[in-house]
Amino acid sequence: MKIQVLQEKCTGCRLCEQICTIHHCKEINPKKSAIRIKAEFPVPGVFIPKLCDQCGDCIEVCPSNAISKKDDAVVIDPDECSNCGLCVQECPTGVIYEHPDMETPIICDLCLKCTEVCNTGALVVIDD
Ligand code: SF4
Ligand code: SF4
Repeated sequence: MKIQVLQEKCTGCRLCEQICTIHHCKEINPKKSAIRIKAEFPVPGVFIPKLCDQCGDCIEVCPSNAISKKDDAVVIDPDECSNCGLCVQECPTGVIYEHPDMETPIICDLCLKCTEVCNTGALVVIDD
């Protein structure tokens, strides 16, 4: 299972960013979201949802063996992670994020909350 992004359907409403941090951090803070909307202008603008595609490259680079695949999702074990940031640097699509409040890097865990609130069909759950 993975989330397919249909970029042309994204309106840039950012509900996905909000639900991601409500679910994981109990607050609305797009800077802690595992999904980010990249906006390209001029008006009317193009909005590009960016999130992990579970490629697993980060698993290899983690010196603490803190990253693994669990039920299709790449997950970080907070008990093992030293927050060194190597996975953030390694990610080929730049979708592992850091925030000073967080004890580990931020990565999509495939909770699918964003797909539930996206009412334009820009985020679709597919079997891979
Ligand atoms: S909820 Fe859907 S339409 Fe809204 S910003 Fe996110 S991906 Fe785009
Ligand atoms: S599936 Fe869950 S963790 Fe991943 S971007 Fe969507 S809301 Fe965030």
